[in-house]
Amino acid sequence: MSCGNPHETDCREVLARVYEYLDGEMTAHDVAKIRQHLDECHPCLTQYDIDQLLKALIRRSCVCEAAPETLRSRILVRITEVRLQLEG
Ligand SMILES: [Zn+2]
Repeated sequence: MSCGNPHETDCREVLARVYEYLDGEMTAHDVAKIRQHLDECHPCLTQYDIDQLLKALIRRSCVCEAAPETLRSRILVRITEVRLQLEG
């Protein structure tokens, strides 16, 4: 457990399912679980914000750019940089 306090939902589960959450592919029960965890757990919320940003960027790029994979890897590099800054 990386958060240091007990959560009903494991951080790894939350992080593994952030994309399902963003895509709205979850059941209402799971959505409530993830949302509650994000309320309680700052590290996961930060990760969620980054993923949300990434998803928005990819969605936007798909409209006008034919090589989302290239952009995706570029964004992933950027995210690593941001994460290193956040972890200070
Ligand atoms: Zn967490």
